[in-house]
Amino acid sequence: ENGNTTKTKRVLLLKPRGFCAGVVRAIDIVQIALDTFGAPIYVRKEIVHNSYVVNDLAKKGAIFVNELDEVPEGARVIYSAHGVSPAVRERAKERGLKVIDATCPLVTKVHVEAIKFAKQGYSLVLVGHRDHEEVEGTQGEAPDVTQVVSTVEEVAALVVPDPNKVAYLTQTTLSLDEARYMIEALKKKFPNIIGPHAQDICYATENRQTAVKNVAHGADLVLVVGSRNSSNSNRLVEVSKNLDTNSYLIDTADAIQPDWLDGVDTVAVTAGASAPEVLVKDVVEYLQAKGYGSVDEVEVMPENVRFGLPPEIVQAIASAP
Ligand code: SF4
Repeated sequence: ENGNTTKTKRVLLLKPRGFCAGVVRAIDIVQIALDTFGAPIYVRKEIVHNSYVVNDLAKKGAIFVNELDEVPEGARVIYSAHGVSPAVRERAKERGLKVIDATCPLVTKVHVEAIKFAKQGYSLVLVGHRDHEEVEGTQGEAPDVTQVVSTVEEVAALVVPDPNKVAYLTQTTLSLDEARYMIEALKKKFPNIIGPHAQDICYATENRQTAVKNVAHGADLVLVVGSRNSSNSNRLVEVSKNLDTNSYLIDTADAIQPDWLDGVDTVAVTAGASAPEVLVKDVVEYLQAKGYGSVDEVEVMPENVRFGLPPEIVQAIASAP
């Protein structure tokens, strides 16, 4: 390699990236619960979909379980940021568990909409990924009248008791373009369908996708820091690929294959809403060591969202010695 090639190699660090307000709040809740009540604290499912975050909290004394049956009677359990169905809340009551709810307020907002529409007698169509914990939780608010769809074929196959009484909702972490396309298909099939007042896709999902859209055309590769099971991170890879810019999802810098960088001058780096900044820093350092000497942060829009802590945690802090 000659000096010229080296000079043109650069990193564009997208902003906003990484932690959203719901993830910061959920991690704070586990941390404060550990500090206030001491280990062990049980957490139902991964608190957020990131292996580094989960391993770190596990080291500090959080015990991650799949279902409440694995939590000893009367113990303290935290619900993850993705939310739970009423059936899970019921089970917690039966087992006498002390619950701390770390559900993101923007997921709760979708639950409230589901309850409202179901009460008004609507059939519900939830656009999202069937196997995602958030979708299981939202669907659980009105399981008898909710159908989950993730493709236009599934929209075409929908059967409802009254096509004039249908409402839709979406998962918070979908691709904006795909959601728009799905909602168009729903409106075509059910012209009187109604939806939420404001977008169900959350601000963090939207902003991270918009940042990728703004920068992907000027990059040869987009690296997205995030775990396999992180929905919003996977969407960032798709957004980039849809703009014909190659993209990979990586848990850590170790996952980068050196040949991905062949012929690549500009690498854009971003991170899903559950990926910590320390992992982004490692990726940038890896790239710098590979000759990507200039690192520019590209701020596509400002983001200043914060959520308050749940009452269980506020009380615990207040009554701590
Ligand atoms: Fe909440 Fe959006 Fe973050 Fe999910 S990605 S935790 S909905 S802010």
